[in-house]
Amino acid sequence: MSYVDEVLQRVRKKDPDQPEFYQAVRECFDTVRPLVDANEKLYRENAVLERFVEPERMISFRVPWIDRNGAVQINRGWRVQFNSAIGSYKGGIRLRSTVNESIIKFLGFEIVLKNALTGLPMGGAKGGSDFDPKGKTDREVMNFCQSFVTELFKYVGSHMDCPAGDIGCGSREINYMFGQYKRLTGLFDGSFSGKDPNFGGSLVRREAAGYGLGYMAEEMAEAYGKTIRGKTVVVTGSGNVAIYAVEKCQQLGAHVIAMCDSDGYIVDPDGIHLNIVKQIKEVQRGRIREYADLVPRASYTPGPGIWNIPCDIYLPCATQNEISPESAETLVRNGVFLIAEGANMPADLDTIHYFQNHGVLYMPDKAANAGGVSVSGLEQTQNAMRFSWTFEEVDARLKIIMHDIFEKVSRTAAAYGMPNNYLAGANLYAFQRVAAAMIAQGIV
Ligand code: NDP
Repeated sequence: MSYVDEVLQRVRKKDPDQPEFYQAVRECFDTVRPLVDANEKLYRENAVLERFVEPERMISFRVPWIDRNGAVQINRGWRVQFNSAIGSYKGGIRLRSTVNESIIKFLGFEIVLKNALTGLPMGGAKGGSDFDPKGKTDREVMNFCQSFVTELFKYVGSHMDCPAGDIGCGSREINYMFGQYKRLTGLFDGSFSGKDPNFGGSLVRREAAGYGLGYMAEEMAEAYGKTIRGKTVVVTGSGNVAIYAVEKCQQLGAHVIAMCDSDGYIVDPDGIHLNIVKQIKEVQRGRIREYADLVPRASYTPGPGIWNIPCDIYLPCATQNEISPESAETLVRNGVFLIAEGANMPADLDTIHYFQNHGVLYMPDKAANAGGVSVSGLEQTQNAMRFSWTFEEVDARLKIIMHDIFEKVSRTAAAYGMPNNYLAGANLYAFQRVAAAMIAQGIV
């Protein structure tokens, strides 16, 4: 049995109740086989694969808080500090009722590779809780965030671990967390990113993951002598990544016609009016169906099914495994030519192979949505310098980072004889970089 298969088998046996984590490891290991096979002796001697799948640290803790009725609520919090071979830990916090250890570990594993692609000195970590801010008052969210950080602050800090946002964790939540961190430690530093720009947050951090995704889609199209200008685009989700992916695609001249949330989807044949979506989602914290009440030509369909809308470009920006094998078939049948993952792991390995086998240009999350963590890294840099760059400066750096990632990914794929296999290119480039650092630093 190959070294890769041995370790995959061990992961499955050791954590049989962590399907998302196994899925992420399999996707990576399956594509880095040529590298592992070529270096088998070195990697085995240094237990590179075994160490790669074992987090350096996983913290799980109780989060008690008081709700609006004075009742005590208990949630569970986690932080997985997965790998610090190339830099201090960095990664978001997910707040959603469905969060569990498997989801936190898959996100932690993925972000180690993603951060290695950015070129910034960042290791990988991820955290979260089964607390869902939806339907909670601001005061309840604050109570939760303060309790969460009262435990988490022992393990984070600007030189140790810098959390940021993810699903359910936007600037409101990060601001509350930073406030409590500062209160407990007395430090005003770059320990959290995604803060309000009024007190140390980077400009473009809010837009970064979505803008970066738009830049990446344009890079992919250009490599084929095409452009996203004039193309019909469907974006799933209507949260942070989705909204700013729509904004960048529209700035680049694309025609975005559909978005969704977990209740249903809207289609606007005239093109999405993003100011209305922002008002509903960012200001009122409402539901996407409200868009159709305000825009006469738009329609709202309850339930899943946004993939049925024919499009040239599909940008999944909601959640893991949102693209089923059946929806993949529909997308291909309707002529999609480019997919870039805004969400983390929206499709499994077999589904990605299906797209690739049908000639669809496919960019995996760790490359396509790396703009978010990149600008988080730039926020840390600005905090350390006690200086702020302008919106234009940060946006220009983001664009360069996304261009560099595209170059690394496509060059690596070609070097391994798999041109246009961006999944392989991303995993091979990132894995090789982290593995080399792990070997150089000894058995730790
Ligand atoms: P948000 O919480 O801001 O938005 C998530 C959106 O996805 C919401 O509109 C939500 O709808 C929708 N959604 C969630 N689950 C489903 C579902 N099963 N079906 C349809 N819609 C769904 O999160 P983000 O935009 O921050 O994150 C989205 C994805 O992007 C995640 O995979 C995240 O890991 C990834 N990501 C985020 C980054 C960031 O900086 N924020 C950076 C890189 C990646 P509802 O309101 O109904 O829950």
